Amino acid sequence: GEIQQNPHIIVLPTPGMGHLIPLIEFAKRLVLRHDFSFTFTIPSDGSPSEAQKTVLGSLPDSIDYIFLPPVNFDDLSGDVKIETRISLTVTRSLSSLREVLKEMVDNKRVVALVVDLFGTDAFDVAKEFKLPSYIFYPSTANALSLFLELPKLDEMYSCEYRDLLEPVKLPGCVPLHGRDFLDPLQDRKNEAYTWLLHHSNRYKLAEGILVNSFVDLEPDTFEALKEEKPDRPPIYPVGPLIQSGSTNKGADGSNCLKWLDEQPHGSVLFISFGSGGTLSKEQLNELAIGLEMSEQRFLWVVRSPSEKAANASYFSAQSAKDPFDFLPKGFVERTKGLGLVVPSWAPQVQVLSHGSTGGFLSHCGWNSTLESIVNGVPLIAWPLFAEQKMNAVMLDYMKVALRPKFDENGIVRRDEIAKVVKGLMEGEAGKKLRNKMKALKSAAGTVLTEDGSSMKSLCEVTLKWKNQCSSV
Ligand code: UDP
Repeated sequence: GEIQQNPHIIVLPTPGMGHLIPLIEFAKRLVLRHDFSFTFTIPSDGSPSEAQKTVLGSLPDSIDYIFLPPVNFDDLSGDVKIETRISLTVTRSLSSLREVLKEMVDNKRVVALVVDLFGTDAFDVAKEFKLPSYIFYPSTANALSLFLELPKLDEMYSCEYRDLLEPVKLPGCVPLHGRDFLDPLQDRKNEAYTWLLHHSNRYKLAEGILVNSFVDLEPDTFEALKEEKPDRPPIYPVGPLIQSGSTNKGADGSNCLKWLDEQPHGSVLFISFGSGGTLSKEQLNELAIGLEMSEQRFLWVVRSPSEKAANASYFSAQSAKDPFDFLPKGFVERTKGLGLVVPSWAPQVQVLSHGSTGGFLSHCGWNSTLESIVNGVPLIAWPLFAEQKMNAVMLDYMKVALRPKFDENGIVRRDEIAKVVKGLMEGEAGKKLRNKMKALKSAAGTVLTEDGSSMKSLCEVTLKWKNQCSSV
């Protein structure tokens, strides 16, 4: 008879470490507990970044990866938004994906295609091979609700969402002003908006949507999403899936962990703007001086400033120039006893789980946020792009984050920085946030154990995949 092969899943991560990392974690879970194997087919517009190589370098045998041939972007103008770039990376890779699938289905028992939030164009290729498609949504249930409601909002309003006077109240969601909607919804004439709308219109074509969040974190939102609607695939809360295992820390990485070992318990503020976040030169300067004024201990991942966009390093995670050149004169020497600066990249999960870390000034990327929650570390919410403002609003609402005030030029001034940093690290406000975060940490610790809610929905999906017949 026929040999029963392990079910195999094809994953298509769109560009961005924040998409790749949780998808890998997801795959690791399934390999470990459910005998699946995986192939990551990775589209890009160039050679892989160091950050990518690092996370892909430590995968178990059952998780394979292929870099699809880089797409050509010579025709794009420089100001094309990342959501457009990301979407085009996928559409221009479809023929190479098709080639890979052709070979895969002959040799393996392929049972599903999993894409992330911007990968819906790959559905068409999956369909040619009669493969069911799933979305892994690497952000909140709140943000997913907005994605799902976008076609309706688009019809309902003709103005820019940021001009709406009242906050929008979606079922089970935190009330949200249009100005806090994710970046690509801020300019409806931009192509990025059209792409978002395109994807959100296609979410209904998925067999299911897995969300990297958990019921205790957003109970009302998940409750509302459970409601059956004709155009809504089943929604599975499967989080918090965060980076695990030992990745190559590099020299800077080991250095900062060693430094943390020497600091008092809970005394250090970790500062990082994710894999691609950058500040302007002026803002970088204010942050440095504000930190110095706060007299608190800090570990800061510094990236070269960019005047162009807050996500200037999104596709590379690397600084082009030496970021230290942009710090105020004498800053490193003056703060030597209290602070450590590392260039471009730090082993964030290890830093956040270290006992010396007591706070996190974050751009509120969802992976960073989850990593903070899992470790019970309260936040200073400093959103930069994508859906980060929405996350900041939610974290504020949940009382686990302080929000610094931006001035009329969009800059957080040094005094404000010193104030929030002190407030978080030694103030009463900080203590309250820390306790609230501890409660979330304990909830996060149970949902992926044997009878936990996220484990249950994970099992539900995997059962569907196991019973799925081979595609051909
Ligand atoms: N990260 C890291 N070291 C860094 C910066 C980022 O390990 O110096 C990891 C971080 O732990 C998280 C991911 O990169 O897992 C960033 O994802 P997130 O969603 O927070 O933000 P994005 O990079 O997508 O803006």
